[in-house]
Order: sequence, then C-alpha cells, then structure tokens
Amino acid sequence: MKAAIITIGDELLIGQTTDTNSAWMGAELSKAGFDVYRITSIHDRREDIIYALNEAAGKTDVVLITGGLGPTSDDITKQTLCEFFNTRLVMNIEVLSMIEAMLIQRNFPMNENNRRQAEVPETCRVLKNATGTAPGMWFEQDGTIFISMPGVPHEMKYLMTEHVLPELNKRFTSQIIIHRNIMTYGTFESKLAEILTSFESGLPENIKLAYLPASGIIKLRLTATGSQKETLNKLINDQVSNLYKIIPEFIYAEDEESLEMVIGRLLKAKNQTVCTAESCTGGGIAHMITSIPGSSDYYKGSVVAYSNSVKTQLLGIHEDSINKFGAVSEEVVRELAMAVRKLLKSDYAVATSGIAGPAGGTEAKPVGTLWMAVASEKGVVTEKLVFGNDRTINIMRFSLAALNLLRKQIISQ
Ligand code: AMP
Ligand code: MG
Repeated sequence: MKAAIITIGDELLIGQTTDTNSAWMGAELSKAGFDVYRITSIHDRREDIIYALNEAAGKTDVVLITGGLGPTSDDITKQTLCEFFNTRLVMNIEVLSMIEAMLIQRNFPMNENNRRQAEVPETCRVLKNATGTAPGMWFEQDGTIFISMPGVPHEMKYLMTEHVLPELNKRFTSQIIIHRNIMTYGTFESKLAEILTSFESGLPENIKLAYLPASGIIKLRLTATGSQKETLNKLINDQVSNLYKIIPEFIYAEDEESLEMVIGRLLKAKNQTVCTAESCTGGGIAHMITSIPGSSDYYKGSVVAYSNSVKTQLLGIHEDSINKFGAVSEEVVRELAMAVRKLLKSDYAVATSGIAGPAGGTEAKPVGTLWMAVASEKGVVTEKLVFGNDRTINIMRFSLAALNLLRKQIISQ
C-alpha cells in the first residue's frame, strides 16, 4: 500500500508557509498502514502539476494533493486536474447551495469567484467541505486514487477525517503499524549505531530501527508492521527489552519524554525538590525545568551565579577555592551545589560551571569544558565533560548533561 503526497502553492517554495499539511497527512497515512514513499511540493504552475501527477500515476495506490483550490486566479489546480483527467468543469448544484448557505451565514455576498468554486471536474466524486468553500475531489485512474483538497490546514484535516481516511481504511485491508520510541542520552549517533549493529541485523524482517537525533538526545524508533496487533506488540516489546539490556546507561525514557519531564515525574513521585546554581548555563537549566507545567511542585529556584562575586557573596563560596582551582573546577561546583541546596532548602541541588566559549579556553580547560555537581543528603557527585566550540550549543548541552546527572542521582537513591 503505497501513497504519495503533493502539496501545491508558491508560498511553500519560498519559505512563506511551512508545509505542515504533508507532515500531518504523512503521519495519518502511516497510521493507516500506507507506505508514504514521496512528498513533493510544487509551484501553482500547470506544467509542474501535470509532471507531479504523472510521476505518481500508476506507481502508488493513493495520491493526496493539497493547495491551489482558492477562488483567485493564482490557484489553478482544478483546471489542471481537468486537463490531466481529460474532463471539464461542470457546476455542482449541491456544492453551490452549500457555498451560498455558508456565505449567508457569514454575511458575505456571493460573487463570481464563489460561484466558480462550485464548479468541479465532471468525472470526480465530490467530497463535501463543511468548513470552507472549496470541496474535495476524488478521482480514480488506472488503479491510482487521486484526492485533491484545499491547502487551508483545518479544511484539509476536516476532509481527511470525515471522508478520506474512513474510505481508505475501508478500501484497503490495512496493515497495522506500531511505533515505539526509546529516548537515549549520553552518546552520539555513530557510537550508538556501532553498539547496536548486531541488535539491528538480528531484528525480525518486519521490525525496522530508525535513529532520530535532535540536540543531544537520540530517539530510537522501532516500527513493526504486520496484520495482528497482539503479535506485533509482543514482538516489539521483546525488542524494546533487548535494547534495555544492551544500552541501559543511555536509555532515559520512552515516547518523546524529555529529560526535564522525567525529572519532574521522578521528583513528584518521591515528593522531593530541586534547585540550581548555574554559572555557565546562566539559567538554562532553570528554563528547561520550568518549561514543564506543574514544575512549581518540585522546583525551588535558581541562583545564576555567573560572576565570582555572586558565587562568593551570595552563596558563600570560598575565595580561596576560586583562586586556587579556578571557577571552572570540581571544587567550586561541589561548593556551589552544597551552598544552594542549603540556601534554597531542597532535596537536590544542581550546579554548573564551565567555559561556553568562544573565548576563555586554556590548554588545561578548553572551550566546551563543563564541571557539574549534584548535591543531595547522600553527599555530592561531580562530573567533568568536554563539549565543542559553539556557545549556544554548549549551553544547551551543558544543561542537558546536568539534568541527566540529576536524573541518575534521583533514580539511584
Ligand atoms: P490554497 O488552497 O492554495 O488557496 O491554500 C490556502 C492557504 O492554505 C494558503 O494561503 C496557505 O496559508 C495554506 N496552505 C496551503 N498549503 C499548505 C500546506 N501544504 N501546509 C500548510 N498550509 C498550507
Ligand atoms: Mg494557493
């Protein structure tokens, strides 16, 4: 069961409108068991539309098309579909009266442009659109179904949900597709792929593994395809258990959960709190934690101890420690974590001190160096990591690293 998507509109090609339709339709088609093999975005141009239709014809079971159905002259999808399917536009009385009713309700007068929207290709089946003036159109030719819908996202979604998906589900004995997302942190994609080489080659034919890295986190997505839900669930669960055995140190959650969400969940369950003293991350950790609704239940606050004077005067860090070891040192992050934990009366405290760059690095402490600490009633753990040269990326990576150290402490206690 193959499907293709064609989105039409000049605005999509010049970055004015993001093609969210393709993403949504791709997800829905995939859930319905289709293999979406191509997404194409093209201009509102006759030749390009004909070319894209020819490209998909005969190669796929279903082609979803959006865009170019507006009442203005730049929208030419309908005329072009007539040309492609060798038919002509005819007035559809039912559509016309729907448009009339809609305009009356909105208090708009009917004009020639609106009337033209009630014209549809003679050979298509009309999909009524209760949310706008352009109807959807269903064509079948040489074993391929072509469905044309308006570009306006909520109208497309209405037509998909009300007409297209139910009908496709009926027509195609749909395969079941199950996805499982395993969230990992602490290594990079190529390393993970190396560790998982034999896991991947040993996967059953109908289970595929994908690596989806994004800003320090790598999502591993297992996709199982088949006809029986229970069998598939069992099969995919077995493979997820294998992953937990192979890379337990990297898996931190499943199904899109972020590190800050996991921390919130763990702390809430234990009825515990955390606070932060952030030098190099400058409040980045605080921002991540507080982006989670309900974080006031477990997050006390932060001291952005950026300058040495804040470290010494507000948090009471010994000047000697800074002079002797430097602000970016194990000694100083240890003291920072203990001091802020005491000041803000929390179960856990996280502290960071590092060199985000681009300047300030030395041979002993290059740009990208991070010292972090987590203090709790069990004591303080510290860790040093060295990242890259980009300041913005470093601050984000430092924050993630500190959150992960906190997570490990929470689950180990
Ligand atoms: P149209 O059917 O071409 O008149 O499209 C109407 C409006 O829908 C456009 O002005 C865009 O704002 C929006 N739109 C069109 N195509 C897409 C798409 N692929 N993704 C998201 N929005 C779209
Ligand atoms: Mg358009």
